[in-house]
Amino acid sequence: MEKLQKLEKLYEGKAKKLYKTDVENVLWVEYLNQATAGNGVKKEQIEGKGRLNNKITAAIFEELNYRGISSHFIKSISENEQLVRAMKMFPLEIIMRNVAAGSFAKRYGLEEGTKLSHPVLEYCLKDDSLADPFINDDDLTAMNLVTREQLDIISAKTREINKVLSDMFAQCDVLLVDFKIEMGETADGVILLADEITPDTCRLWNLRNGENGQIEHLDKDLFRRDLGSIIPAYEDILERITKLNAKHSQL
Ligand code: ADP
Ligand code: UDP
Repeated sequence: MEKLQKLEKLYEGKAKKLYKTDVENVLWVEYLNQATAGNGVKKEQIEGKGRLNNKITAAIFEELNYRGISSHFIKSISENEQLVRAMKMFPLEIIMRNVAAGSFAKRYGLEEGTKLSHPVLEYCLKDDSLADPFINDDDLTAMNLVTREQLDIISAKTREINKVLSDMFAQCDVLLVDFKIEMGETADGVILLADEITPDTCRLWNLRNGENGQIEHLDKDLFRRDLGSIIPAYEDILERITKLNAKHSQL
């Protein structure tokens, strides 16, 4: 992969740009400084965000790989760029929740932080023009967006990822409240975790300095809810995960 070259842009999203490369099935991903919320209604450039999310997602994918969960991640190539395997993405936002928060708390009239008896798996259709609506298994298979067999694999993998990620964050004194992931299929039909896992896509609550019972958000809710700068929180998450990575690379 020495002579790999960045070719034409394939896609520009809200948080990343994807480029083709001269190597088959390898994409070049650039993480942007742009932060958005409310389906792009709130939008800001935040210096340092692209670098932090590139590093955080790389560290998490490496940690997951160490724990037996493979993903599209190949390697980081600069402060804000990485190489990934090209995937045929499912048009799905796969959401897993351990504690009630965000739209779930709102939908059911629960206080944020209410413990759930077991993790909850939800799907949203990935379609900005429809504002990513909630969708169920039957809807998905009836519209041939995924097959039952694919959903079985997606749900089993997601539950496993939740266990591993929750444990990983607990080791860094962080509560994994909920998260969104995306999956796709490789050219030879293998379903893999793709996209990103960052504080943009997870709710992460600090379990250190639990003063006055207040929730301390280390994630994009700081931006969504105008609670303060995301940068120190994202730096903190990167530092905690990097320490875990370092432990494993010594083994
Ligand atoms: P959005 O599309 O929501 O604005 P991004 O800016 O993060 O979000 O865009 C990244 C896009 O790249 C998403 O549409 C995602 O589904 C897609 N993607 C992520 N990983 C891969 C991959 N390995 N191969 C192909 N597409 C991918
Ligand atoms: N999420 C995401 N992208 C989205 C919607 C949600 O990454 O487009 C993540 C969000 O960060 C949270 C989880 O999915 O960790 C559940 O989000 P929720 O449905 O509560 O939506 P929100 O309250 O963010 O609208």
